[in-house]
Amino acid sequence: MNDLSRYCERVLLNKQEIADMVKRLGAQITKDYEGKKLFLICVLKGGFVFMSDLVRAIDLPVDMDFIAVSSYGSSTKTSGVVRLLKDIDKPLNDKHVLIVEDIMDSGLTLKYIKAMFENRSPLSVKVCTAFDKPERRRVDITPDYVGAVIPDEYVVGYGLDYDGILRNLPELCVLKRSVYED
Ligand code: 5GP
Repeated sequence: MNDLSRYCERVLLNKQEIADMVKRLGAQITKDYEGKKLFLICVLKGGFVFMSDLVRAIDLPVDMDFIAVSSYGSSTKTSGVVRLLKDIDKPLNDKHVLIVEDIMDSGLTLKYIKAMFENRSPLSVKVCTAFDKPERRRVDITPDYVGAVIPDEYVVGYGLDYDGILRNLPELCVLKRSVYED
């Protein structure tokens, strides 16, 4: 048992399940965007682990960039107020944009980000999320690509943090309640 696993209540997706999920998404995206100019935009920080696996599972000459957003609120609940901390620096008018996100919960963050890029007149804007909690949705937004639908629980690992830590946990885990209820 490694040290990080003490934060983990239970494993929702192990390394192999995540690898299979990424492979499936990469193959689907490769098929859907063949012959098109695909521009992947990763939402930092949570999306960075998924992004690095996903781009290597896509067999197309993709361009990519990163944005950073922060959502105000306590560390296990989102407030819906999104602040753009880092933007991309290229115009999008001749590109098909695919936003790469770690997890969709209320949907507020992605609704905001998607609308922001749609306003820049790209050829298309779609959303790929590693994990989705559809039960929690508060706004009308459906991701175009979903790695795995998960239950309404606070998860960590595979890029997702608790208070800045645990992004490097290779599995997707339900965070132990005692960690944030202490
Ligand atoms: P939304 O705007 O869809 O409610 O929330 C999106 C953001 O909230 C995600 O990008 C992520 O940063 C954070 N978030 C939502 N659910 C979880 C979760 O279960 N675990 C962690 N670590 N972050 C989450």
